[in-house]
Amino acid sequence: MDVTIFGTGYVGLVTGTCLAEVGNRVLCIDIDPDKIELLNNGGVPIYEPGLEEMIHANRAAGRLRFSTDAKAGVEHGLFQFIAVGTPPDEDGSADLQYVLAVARTIAEHMNEYRILVDKSTVPVGTADRVAATVREVLERRGQKIEFDVVSNPEFLKEGAAIEDFMRPDRIIVGTDNPRTAELLRALYAPFNRNHQRFFVMDVRSAELTKYAANAMLATKISFMNELSNIAEAVGADIEKVRIGIGSDPRIGYQFIYPGCGYGGSCFPKDVRALERTANALGYTAELLQAVEAVNLRQKRVLFQKIRDYFGGDLAGRTIALWGLAFKPNTDDMREASSRVLMECLWEAGARVQAYDPVAIKEAQRIYGERADLQFARDALSVLDRADALVLVTEWSEFRSPDFTAIRARLRHPVIFDGRNILDGDQARAAGLTYISIGRTPLI
Ligand code: NAD
Repeated sequence: MDVTIFGTGYVGLVTGTCLAEVGNRVLCIDIDPDKIELLNNGGVPIYEPGLEEMIHANRAAGRLRFSTDAKAGVEHGLFQFIAVGTPPDEDGSADLQYVLAVARTIAEHMNEYRILVDKSTVPVGTADRVAATVREVLERRGQKIEFDVVSNPEFLKEGAAIEDFMRPDRIIVGTDNPRTAELLRALYAPFNRNHQRFFVMDVRSAELTKYAANAMLATKISFMNELSNIAEAVGADIEKVRIGIGSDPRIGYQFIYPGCGYGGSCFPKDVRALERTANALGYTAELLQAVEAVNLRQKRVLFQKIRDYFGGDLAGRTIALWGLAFKPNTDDMREASSRVLMECLWEAGARVQAYDPVAIKEAQRIYGERADLQFARDALSVLDRADALVLVTEWSEFRSPDFTAIRARLRHPVIFDGRNILDGDQARAAGLTYISIGRTPLI
């Protein structure tokens, strides 16, 4: 089938590449000429395991192309995927300007039936706005052309995006047109050999499903973080509590890890946007407000522990960070906990030395040159002349470190583990003070 994707970010690029992988002819459109030039020269603007190889193979096979030519994009695909950003507006609600701009572009150039498939995360009611926008432009053009607007939210996880797209837990399609539903069922058939994972529903329910999923996951994290602070206060160990509650199948072990807060381009903005949607309709979403408030507080917990350890004064200290990305296997630093920590440290007069397997370039892009931020080539050299080590992102390569080597390099023998992945006993045996989340405070 012929497919056009608007937006070549994490979602658009993965969607386009995976649809090409199963044999479709895919044209990806972006308004960023640098991104398109990079892709056309064999580069990949983001880090995502397996993506680069798959892009190269499908470009070589002629099934995957990149362009800034929106008109050619509209002419190419029966399916017109919208996968552009929906960043938070000033008040936290989703900013739909990019989605509606794509809708206008499609309407401007379409000459025959098109299916607009909304993959961006958008508030309930957006499909109606997209349809109204298309109708308006078509009327102005004096054209009567049929089209459909479908909600098809994306559930991929950065860092495992290819795997998630190729073997999805579910494919949600929101439409009340059975013919369109069947066309999408055919497009997704290669990813859905078990058809129980393809769910057709009304558009609004599909739109809300995406927010419900992210809000639920964010709630699990904030719940555990709230518990971790209570555990510290009462002298319990949150890791034992986690194992204790996870064994109940109604609770389960997944996604109940305490830590230094959630970040990324989805959870923070989607929780906020859902809360604002409810608020605009006169409903106060108290649980969602609390989920966000707990997370904002949790992102400062590491800083408070470091400050307390150094007697309240961090001026002139150098703190080494392991991990900058908001989670492992991605270079994405949007709303990352590392950013809150670094900004708190700088404000307190400390310097940061950071190491991340893939996100250093992104950190350089965000912060530019500054005297109080240095980067290191590897996990050990980042410790040289540092007063303390803080683990912020749970990359696999940090899981089993040489504690003796760490001890030898640090000026102060202390590790702060923001994800509770290190073995505290081993760290202590090497002469280090080990401070983590939700266990008996050491000071
Ligand atoms: P992104 O910021 O990485 O990419 C968006 C891309 O759209 C950019 O390359 C931008 O240049 C391009 N763009 C903007 N306007 C355009 C236009 N008019 N025509 C063509 N291209 C245009 O965003 P993302 O992370 O891929 O997220 C996209 C959407 O998917 C968001 O709504 C997000 O909430 C949702 N989502 C993201 C994830 C994720 O893990 N990143 C997962 C599920 C859903």
